[in-house]
Amino acid sequence: PGPAAVAQKKKPVPEATTASPADIEQRISALLAQMTLDEKVGQLNQYSGREVTGPASDRKNTLLSSIRSGQVGSMLNVKGVKDTREIQAVALESRLHIPLLFSLDVIHGYQTTFPIPLAEAASWDLDAIRLGAHVAAKEAAASGIHWTFAPMVDVGRDPRWGRVMEGAGEDTYLGSQIAKARVLGFQGEKLGGTDAVMACAKHFAAYGAATAGRDYNAVDISEQQLWETYLPPFRAAAEAGVATFMNSFNTLNGIPATGNAYLQRDILKGQWKYPGFVVSDWGSIGELANWGYAADKTDAAQKAITAGSDMDMESDAYHQKLAQLVQAGKVNISLVDEAVRRILRKKFELGLFDDPYRFSDEKREKQVLSDPQNRTAARQMAQKSLVLLKNENATLPLAKALRRVALIGPLAKARRDLNGSWTVDTDTTRITSLYDGLRQRAGKTTELLYAKGCAVSDDSRAGFEQAVATAKNADLVILTVGEAWDMSGEAKSRTDIHLPGVQEELFKALKATGKPVAVVVFGGRPLIFDAIAEQADAILYAWWPGSEGGAALADVLYGDYNPAGKLPITFPRSVGQIPIAYNQQYNTGRPVTKPGDIRYKSAYIDSPNTPRYAFGYGLSYTTFKYSDLKISQAQLKAGESAQVSFTLTNNGKVAGEEVAQLYLRDPVASVARPLRELKDFRKISLKPGESKTVTFTIDKDKLAFYNSKLEWLAEPGKFNLMVGSASDDIRLEGVLELLP
Ligand code: BGC
Repeated sequence: PGPAAVAQKKKPVPEATTASPADIEQRISALLAQMTLDEKVGQLNQYSGREVTGPASDRKNTLLSSIRSGQVGSMLNVKGVKDTREIQAVALESRLHIPLLFSLDVIHGYQTTFPIPLAEAASWDLDAIRLGAHVAAKEAAASGIHWTFAPMVDVGRDPRWGRVMEGAGEDTYLGSQIAKARVLGFQGEKLGGTDAVMACAKHFAAYGAATAGRDYNAVDISEQQLWETYLPPFRAAAEAGVATFMNSFNTLNGIPATGNAYLQRDILKGQWKYPGFVVSDWGSIGELANWGYAADKTDAAQKAITAGSDMDMESDAYHQKLAQLVQAGKVNISLVDEAVRRILRKKFELGLFDDPYRFSDEKREKQVLSDPQNRTAARQMAQKSLVLLKNENATLPLAKALRRVALIGPLAKARRDLNGSWTVDTDTTRITSLYDGLRQRAGKTTELLYAKGCAVSDDSRAGFEQAVATAKNADLVILTVGEAWDMSGEAKSRTDIHLPGVQEELFKALKATGKPVAVVVFGGRPLIFDAIAEQADAILYAWWPGSEGGAALADVLYGDYNPAGKLPITFPRSVGQIPIAYNQQYNTGRPVTKPGDIRYKSAYIDSPNTPRYAFGYGLSYTTFKYSDLKISQAQLKAGESAQVSFTLTNNGKVAGEEVAQLYLRDPVASVARPLRELKDFRKISLKPGESKTVTFTIDKDKLAFYNSKLEWLAEPGKFNLMVGSASDDIRLEGVLELLP
C-alpha cells in the first residue's frame, strides 16, 4: 500500500457534549451538593472487572453491589459493548445515577495490534504515530471503552528494564513530541468525540530511572535530571490536554510517587495548573506501606489523598478508610471534594451524563472493528518502525532472481510473539507471521524453504542439522531470532540482554554454510548479538511489529518499502556499559574544540565506550548526502531566532526517506552539558537524485537548560550545531553565538 492510503477518511466527529466549561462546573457543584460522603468516596474507587462479567462468585457479587450503591467510580478491564452496557446499567441504578468510566490498557492497539510503542518511536513519524493512537482509540471507543492507560511517556534509558518497550525510548525531545502525538491521537482535539478515548500520561514520574533496571524499584536522581530529562514528556502531554495522569510504583529520592506531594500537588496541579485527575497505579496506594512510607492502609490512604492521588486503582484503601479519616478529622473533606470534582469533570466532558453508553452499540462495534483501513494503518506503521542495522553488499532487498530462500529460526512462523506484550486481542489468527507474509509475497518464482533450528530460549541444538541442510539448499537465508513476547514488558527486567538460548549459535552454523544470511531480530528492547552484528550480511530490527508485522517485513525484505526507521534508544555492546544513553556528559580528555572530536578520558580498558548502534542510527536502501549548511545569522540576540538550513540529496538509486537530526552542544556552561542533545528532526522523502532544503529554527529555548539553581535559561556564548543522520553520524557542523 502506498502512502496515499494512510490518510483515513475524515468525517466530522460528533461532539458528545456541547456544554461550556462554566456549565460543567455548575453541574458538578450541583451534583456534589447532593452527594453523601460515601458517594463521594465512591467516585474515587476503581476496580478491575474481569470477574464482574464472569461466572457467579463472591467477588462478582461484592463488585455489583458496590456499583449499585454508588461505591465505584471506574472499572478497568471490562470491555466490549455488551459487557460495558450491562455494567453501566447497574451503575445507573445507583441513587444519583452517576455513570462509570470504563478503562483499559490500550497500549498499541485494541483489536488491530500496532507495533509496540518503542517500535513506533523508531519511525520518528509523528503523523503515523498519531494515526496509530487514533485507530486504537476508535476501535476501543466503539467497544465501550472511555479511557486508555496510555501513553507511557517515561523516558527509558536502561534496556534491562522491560518497560522500555512501552515508551518512546531514551530521548526527552523525541519523547515529548511523541507524547503529544499520542495524546492527540487517542483523544482528538477535544474530549468527547465518539472516535476517541481519554488518554493517561504515565507513570508520574521518573519510573524509567528505576535503579539497575529493576521494575517497580527506587529512583534516586538529581533535581536537574528530573526536570531536564524525565518531566518534559509529561509536560508535553499535559499541554496537549491529556485528560488524566497515572502516578507510579517507584520512589523518587525517597518518597514514593503515589504519596509524593511535590510531584502531584506542587508540580502537576500547582505549577502546571493541571485540570485533569490522577489515578494511582495498580495497588500503589496500598504499596506505600511496602515501601515503609506508611504504617498501614489507613495511613496510606491519608498520605495518598493528601499528596494528590485522586483515584485509587485496586488498593481498596480509599473505599475502606477514607470516610473514617474524614470523620476523624484527619483528612479535610475539601481534599475529597477536589478529587471528586476532577473525576466528575472528565465524566461531564466525555458526555457520559448525556449518554452514559457513549453511542456504543453492537452494530457500530462490529463495523469499526472490521474496517480494513485499520489493518492498513497497522501495516504501514510496522513498515515505518523497522530499522535496517546492517546491509553488506546490498544483500537486501532480496534480488528478484533468487530461486530459493530459506526462512529459518524460532520466530519464523511465530504469531503471538509478533504482537509483544500489552495486547488486548487474543485471536492469533489475525496475526500475519513472517512465514505467511513472505509466502504471499514470494510469488511463484521463489521457493520458500523452512526450518525452525531451535527454540527461543531452550538449549537444544537438535534442530541445527536440518536448519543447515535447508540453508545449503537455498540461495539465501533469512534467519529470525529474538525474544518471545513475554520476555519484555512489565515485570520483565533482564540482567542479560543477549539473544536468549542458542540462537547466536544457530546463526554461526548457518553462516558457516557460506550462504548469505539476513537476520530479522524481534524483541521488546535493545538486544545484544555480537556474532550477528559482526558477521551477518544484513540485519533488520523488527521489534515486536504487531499483527501486520509479517506482511510489513515482507514489504521491506522485497524492497516494496524502503526502510527508514532510526533507533530511539542506544544499543549497548555489553550490559556493563549501561547507562549508555547518547546524551551524556563526558570527560573528553581535553577541551572539545570540534564537536565531532570526542576522546574519552573515562574509557574502559576492556571495551570501547561507543555503543554497538547509536541513538538515531538506521540505514536505507539508498544513501543521502548532506551539504551546504547555512545559518541565517552568526549571532543571536534575546528574542531572535536563527534558521539553520542545508541541502539533503538522495544520491542513491531508489526513493527513500531520511530522518535528518539536529543536535546542539553548549561547550562551555555553568553546568557541564551533554556532548550532544537532539533538538529537532525532520523526516524527508526523496526520489533518486532529488534534493530538498531542510530548515530548522533555533530560538533561545533550544539553547536553554536547568542550571544548578534549577533556573531554565540559555547562557550567552557559543553553541555547536550538528546536523546528521544519527547521533554518531554528524555530517554538517556550525557555530551559533548567543549574545548577552
Ligand atoms: C501498570 C500500569 C497499568 C496498570 C493497569 C500496572 O501494573 O504499571 O501501567 O496501566 O497496571 O493494568
